[in-house]
Amino acid sequence: MHLAGLIEALLPQSCLLCSSRQGGILGLCGGCLHDMPWHRDNICPQCALPSKDNLLCGQCLQAPPAFDATRSLFQYQFPLSSMLQQYKYGQLFTLARTMGLLFAAHTGLSLSADCMIPMPLHRQRLQERGFNQSAEIAKVISKQLHLPIRLEACHRIKPTPPQASLPYKQRIKNMQGAFECINDLTGQRVILLDDVMTTGASLNALAKTVKAAGARHVECWVVARTVSE
Ligand SMILES: [Zn+2]
Ligand SMILES: [Zn+2]
Repeated sequence: MHLAGLIEALLPQSCLLCSSRQGGILGLCGGCLHDMPWHRDNICPQCALPSKDNLLCGQCLQAPPAFDATRSLFQYQFPLSSMLQQYKYGQLFTLARTMGLLFAAHTGLSLSADCMIPMPLHRQRLQERGFNQSAEIAKVISKQLHLPIRLEACHRIKPTPPQASLPYKQRIKNMQGAFECINDLTGQRVILLDDVMTTGASLNALAKTVKAAGARHVECWVVARTVSE
C-alpha cells in the first residue's frame, strides 16, 4: 500500500465532500452519499445510457457493443466529476477505497464473474502518472468480493491520443488494435473496470480483445457514465 493510503486508512475519516468528521469507512457522510448523482433507473442494461423502463436502447439493438452489460454507479456530474479529477491528478487514494466499497456493496449480491480486468494504461502513461486509477479501485473490489484481478492479462499496446475532441467514428478507429491479451480467457466471465465511460470506445475495444481471447461474457463496471454528449 502507498504510504499516503496507509495514513489515510488509519485516521478517522472526514467526508470527502463536506469535510465533516462523519465520513466513516466510505469517506462520505450519509447526507453527501444520498445526494450523489446515482445512476440507477431507466438505464440500458448493455451500455448504461438512459433508456425507458431499463430496456435495451436503440443503439445497442442496432449495433450491439462487444460487451454484454454495463453497470455504472453514478452519472458523470458534479460533484463526482471533480472528485474523479482530483483522484486522477491528486492521487486521492481514499476515493479508490470509497468507490471500491460502493461497487462491492451495490453489486456483490448479484455477482457472477470469474475475474476482473482493470482498463490498462499504456506503459508511458503509467510511468507519468505513477498509478492506474482503475486498478486501484479493482484492488478494493477484489478484496471485498474475493474476485481475482488479472492485472497482467491485457496491455495497451498503442498510445491513444486524448479522445475528447474527436468525433465518435474517429475514436472507434483510434482504438483499433489498442489492446492485446496475453492470457487464455476461454469460458471466463470477465468484468472490465474503468473510472469513466464516455462513448464506450475504449471499453468496447478492450471487450473485443478479451472476447477474442475466449471470454464468454464481458461486463463493464464504471464509476461514472457520461449521459449527455
Ligand atoms: Zn459530507
Ligand atoms: Zn444501450
